Amino acid sequence: MPDESDLTGTPQTNAPKAEPRTLGARKLKPATMMMGHGYDPTLSEGSLKPPIFLTSTFVFPNAAAGKRHFEGVTGKRPGGAEGLVYSRFNGPNQEILEDRLAIWEEAEDALAFSSGMAAIATLFLSLVQPGDTIVHSGPLYAATETLIGRVLGRFGVKWLDFPAGATREEIEGVLERAGDGRIALIYLESPANPTNVLVDIEAVVAARDARFPGENRPPIAIDNTFLGPLWQQPLRHGADLVVYSLTKYAGGHSDLVAGGVLGSKALINTVRPMRNTIGTICDPNTAWMLLRSLETLELRMSRAGENAARVCAYLRDHPKVERMGYLGFITDPRQQDIYDRHCTGAGSTFSLYLKGGEAEAFRFLDALRIAKLAVSLGGTETLASHPAAMTHLSVPDERKAALAITDNLVRISIGVEDADDLIADFEQALAAI
Ligand SMILES: *Cc1c(COP(=O)(O)O)cnc(C)c1O
Repeated sequence: MPDESDLTGTPQTNAPKAEPRTLGARKLKPATMMMGHGYDPTLSEGSLKPPIFLTSTFVFPNAAAGKRHFEGVTGKRPGGAEGLVYSRFNGPNQEILEDRLAIWEEAEDALAFSSGMAAIATLFLSLVQPGDTIVHSGPLYAATETLIGRVLGRFGVKWLDFPAGATREEIEGVLERAGDGRIALIYLESPANPTNVLVDIEAVVAARDARFPGENRPPIAIDNTFLGPLWQQPLRHGADLVVYSLTKYAGGHSDLVAGGVLGSKALINTVRPMRNTIGTICDPNTAWMLLRSLETLELRMSRAGENAARVCAYLRDHPKVERMGYLGFITDPRQQDIYDRHCTGAGSTFSLYLKGGEAEAFRFLDALRIAKLAVSLGGTETLASHPAAMTHLSVPDERKAALAITDNLVRISIGVEDADDLIADFEQALAAI
């Protein structure tokens, strides 16, 4: 790192004092690193917390440094920008956020986006060309399916899918169906919503490597919004890129919308120029709020996971409950094997199938007093919704049936409230049916 007197050097904003990653032989845990990593108070008047940097542009120390920055940004010189240039490209708050996001999955690099969908769209735009095929697990988040099928389809991009629980052989079969066409990307989402079916990431990696033994292997990206980063870390299982809606558990307070992509420096550096071009980066205020959220990420997710385990244990045996779709109660041996190899926790978002139909489900939802009736998940508060009538209303009936999106299905995301209070709320709402 050049010092400040270097005439071609970088601005101070990009040269934070390195926070320790280890203490003696001890490697520090992400929960510890979230308090200071990537931020040097001496560069901001000693302020313990990073200020919010509201600026559209950054002053170059001299003209030569400005030229060097643009050589980096435009790709004339490898390695990207060395300092901050313009706020559509990056800013101090977003850079700290990206450094801290990468810590959770030991990713080499990360990018922050203005929404989960902005992250996914920018990723796709940076990797696909007309005529390419995207191979993906199904079902995907509805907007992601729209983006692949209806938006990218207009630009000549094709897709092939396999069911979330597919075996290595089935996945290889789908990869072969692409024939001589280029597969630009293998895109996964696990667990699938609202079925909670897990994708066998290790099997996808094995299938991809068997089909593409050489250099030009399509990257594997996975939407890890439901279980990450605490309960599933796909990079450890061979995925190349991890995608997040940071709106959910990472933001965790239902007060912001943002997204992230994590992975190797090489792959992140193929996505970054697209973000620079189209400006899908998150704003400094949102980045600052996410820094605050990440300080309590482990606390919040742990508590939500413990609460969900207690609430689900209560609901499972209730006479008005038909069955549960909760990763703590897997009945299929193959799904259990995928869970055991990939997951360290069952999460806090699950499906509750009540006895009856829409009327019973609506009565239950309307009777809830603590849980709020809203879509989304991963917040401090418990939310409940009805996929068939809300998030998946436009899904054709046939596909709804295949995905077990029935009229008696209620989707629940458990928060960090007192577990006994939540159980009392579900008890009285079930009594109202
Ligand atoms: C919410 C969500 C998204 C989209 O994220 P936004 O932040 O709303 O754009 C993508 N994938 C999954 C799994 C989600 O739950």
